[in-house]
Amino acid sequence: MSIKGVVVRVPAKVNLQLAVGPLESDGFHEVTTIFQAISLFDDVTVKFGEANTGISLTVSGSTSSGVPVDESNLAYKAAKLMVLRYGISEDIAIHLKKEIPVAGGMAGGSADAAGVLVGIDSLFELGLSRDDLEKLAAELGSDVPFSISGGVAIGTGRGDQITPALARGSYHWVLALAGQGLSTPAVYQECDRLREGLVISKPQVGDEMMQALRAGDPVALGKALSNDLQAAACSLRPALRLVLDVGRDYGALGGIVSGSGPTVAFIVADEEKSLDLTVALSASGVVAGVVRANGPVPGARVIETR
Ligand code: ATP
Repeated sequence: MSIKGVVVRVPAKVNLQLAVGPLESDGFHEVTTIFQAISLFDDVTVKFGEANTGISLTVSGSTSSGVPVDESNLAYKAAKLMVLRYGISEDIAIHLKKEIPVAGGMAGGSADAAGVLVGIDSLFELGLSRDDLEKLAAELGSDVPFSISGGVAIGTGRGDQITPALARGSYHWVLALAGQGLSTPAVYQECDRLREGLVISKPQVGDEMMQALRAGDPVALGKALSNDLQAAACSLRPALRLVLDVGRDYGALGGIVSGSGPTVAFIVADEEKSLDLTVALSASGVVAGVVRANGPVPGARVIETR
């Protein structure tokens, strides 16, 4: 029997470190970052559509509210790119089952785009390599290549040039979710405003973090977490400082605003600490939700064919 559809599972990411360079003349910033993929997933189903229906998109799941279902969705753009590049039929039906927070600094839209690239490659038997897929991904957005690769990786350039990092161990994360997202461009703008008049050096990740990853040491990793966008995210959303305080008070090994926020990611020592912090955050009244996750996990991969 021939395959009619595939389901691709794609992970969210946290940035263990995010170093942001100065504002460049084209309006962008050079970044150097360390990504870790974690066990919070969107499932992307890609099927052959009915004749002459074009690319169709539907969305469900706990975080689907407010996700666009038109051409502005990054998943739609990914499908369009594959149609134009490989001359395949445009009749493709995409369904996103979303669990990754929207505009949460966890690369939700990028994950869906990566899922579509991997799904179309598999469904149409294009035989693309991971390298090919990562190159296509870079055309869609800076976080999309990492959503393909997963694991732990260093991102340079706009964050889109991915090199796998030597990393050991598995880590427990507790994620404090916000009720409302933050716009990534707005957070970068606020970062520029806060840095006005300062000399900003070339972005670099620290040796401590690389050593912590090589050793698989969660205590050292907790200490080495850093994010140049954190001050800007906290400036736009002061309540994030309270969230970070709860983590500190309830035994997290480290806490950080993930990417451009507003999700705050805490690393904890074990399952028990993870439960303690989950209860404390839920009771604090300063978060909209709490999710526990582990990392690293693999990038976009087919989990089912139909
Ligand atoms: P990043 O961490 O890569 O900066 P993010 O996780 O903060 O991204 P997304 O969840 O990707 O943010 O959403 C940012 C905006 O992109 C949303 O407000 C939404 O309007 C739009 N968007 C486009 N496609 C998607 C998608 N597939 N899922 C969610 N949002 C999408």
